[in-house]
Amino acid sequence: MRRKIVAGNWKMNNTFQNAEDLLDELVDSLANEQEDQDVEVVVCPPFLYAEMALDMSTDDEDASQPQVFYSVGVQNVSEYEKGAYTGEISAGMLASMNVEYCIVGHSERRKYFGETDSQVARKVEQLLQNAITPIVCCGEQEADREAGNQFEVVGRQLKEGLFHLKPLDFSRLIIAYEPVWAIGTGKTATPEQAQEMHAFIRGLVQEQYGKEIARVVPVLYGGSCNAKTAKDLFAMPDIDGGLIGGASLDARDFVAIINSFEK
Ligand code: PEP
Repeated sequence: MRRKIVAGNWKMNNTFQNAEDLLDELVDSLANEQEDQDVEVVVCPPFLYAEMALDMSTDDEDASQPQVFYSVGVQNVSEYEKGAYTGEISAGMLASMNVEYCIVGHSERRKYFGETDSQVARKVEQLLQNAITPIVCCGEQEADREAGNQFEVVGRQLKEGLFHLKPLDFSRLIIAYEPVWAIGTGKTATPEQAQEMHAFIRGLVQEQYGKEIARVVPVLYGGSCNAKTAKDLFAMPDIDGGLIGGASLDARDFVAIINSFEK
C-alpha cells in the first residue's frame, strides 16, 4: 500500500498570532478527530513560523513517547548550498531546524519568481543532500489543457526537473500534480481528470525508474481541493492525497480533508 499524505500550503498568509491560533486549533482537531493515523499530515507555514510550528507539533506530556500530530515543511529553498545569497534560506539551515519537507516548483514560484525546471532540479538536489523530502509540483496552464498539451507540459516538467536523479534519490520524493487553472480558483479538477494525469505521471516514472518505484511514489493532487471534493479525488487509484492551499488555513476544513480517505 502507498503512503497517504495531506500537506497544507499556507502560502503568504497569517500573522504570528493567527498562525499560533491556527496551529493550536489544528493540534486539537487532529488529537480528537483524525480518523486514520496512517495519514501523514504536513504543515508548510511561512519560514518565519517554522520554528513555532515545530514546537507545537508534538505533545510531550510523556517525554519518552511524544505524540507527533504533524510534520513541518516549508514552501521554498535556495538552489545554492551557502554563501552570499542575501535573503535566501538553504536546505542545510532547514535541516538544522528539523524541517522535514519542502515544496518545490509551485506554480506561483514559477509564475511570479521565474522558477525554472533547472532550478527545481538544483533545489531538489539540495534538499535530498540534507535529508529533506521535496514535494515537487507540476501542472499545466489552462491554455495548455485547452490545446490538449497537458501531458506534454507535465512530462517535460518531470523530465527536466527530476529525471536526472538516481533511483534511490528519486524514491525519496513526493510529486504533487497541481493544474494551474485549479489553484485558488475554486475550479477543482474532476476526479477523472486528476486520475488520468496521475496515471500518466506514474507511467512516466515507470518508464524511467521501473515498476517498483512507480508503484510507491506518492502523487498528490492540488488545486481547490476542499472538504467537499477530497473524498472522490482520494478514492481514485493513483491519487495518494492532497496538497491543500486555501482550505489548509481552516483547521476544521483541513482535518475534514485528512479524514477523506476511503475507510
Ligand atoms: C496550492 O497552493 O498548492 C493549492 C493547491 O492551493 P488551493 O488549494 O488554494 O487551490
